[in-house]
Amino acid sequence: MLEDDTKLTKRGDTHTYNIAIDGPAGAGKSTIAKKIAARLGFIYVDTGAMYRAMALYFLRNQIDPSDQAKIEEACKDVEITIAYKDGEQIVTLNGENVNGFLRTEEVGNMASTSSVYPFVRLKLVELQRALAKRENVVMDGREIGTYVLPEADLKIFLTASVQKRAGRRWAELKAKGIEEDISEIEKDIRERDHRDMTRTFAPLKQAEDAIYLDSSDLTIDEVIDKIMEYYNKIQNREVGKD
Ligand code: C5P
Repeated sequence: MLEDDTKLTKRGDTHTYNIAIDGPAGAGKSTIAKKIAARLGFIYVDTGAMYRAMALYFLRNQIDPSDQAKIEEACKDVEITIAYKDGEQIVTLNGENVNGFLRTEEVGNMASTSSVYPFVRLKLVELQRALAKRENVVMDGREIGTYVLPEADLKIFLTASVQKRAGRRWAELKAKGIEEDISEIEKDIRERDHRDMTRTFAPLKQAEDAIYLDSSDLTIDEVIDKIMEYYNKIQNREVGKD
């Protein structure tokens, strides 16, 4: 039984199909979005990776993220492109495949601080909208449902408690042989949440027509099943329509 029927919409035209998954850091968005995309044969668009690629450029060029003028100037020298190979998103930074450099804490922190600037965001939003117009996508981020794709066919706001998100991150790092203090991870998550939610331009926020999903006590498969249920419900409604 679906809790909230009113949140299921479908544009009555021939647009590509767009699923937006938003939520705070560590809620499991990318794992889930990737699996849903694979199931539906859609393209998975990881917008965080794009902010990370910009951040990598700022780090490599030793640009202080608090220096707005320098960041704005540097944006002019950055070209990010997205391509897909065997279902994997390849991010290029000025022609170089940078996938292998994006998932570090350093890059994540720089992405979190530099992505507050509208000129950083607008550069990437254009790319994200173009992709969604061309392809059926599952796109994850912070403001996809509210700002990037306000017309998305299905919007999910995926969250989990700070403790659960920190615990998952801790386990992920441990599996890689990295021992981190869980209270440090929690602190970092709280700071990122705060920056994402309080920035003036396109902050992290649940869209009014998004379905709220708390994954704190759900497995990945349970979250996927719920999202697929919503997706199927929209499809059935379309078929039943005159
Ligand atoms: O999701 P991920 O951790 O890869 O994102 C890195 C950073 O990029 C986040 O901390 C967030 O501040 C920023 N971001 C954003 N808007 C998005 C995706 C990511 O501001 N759509």
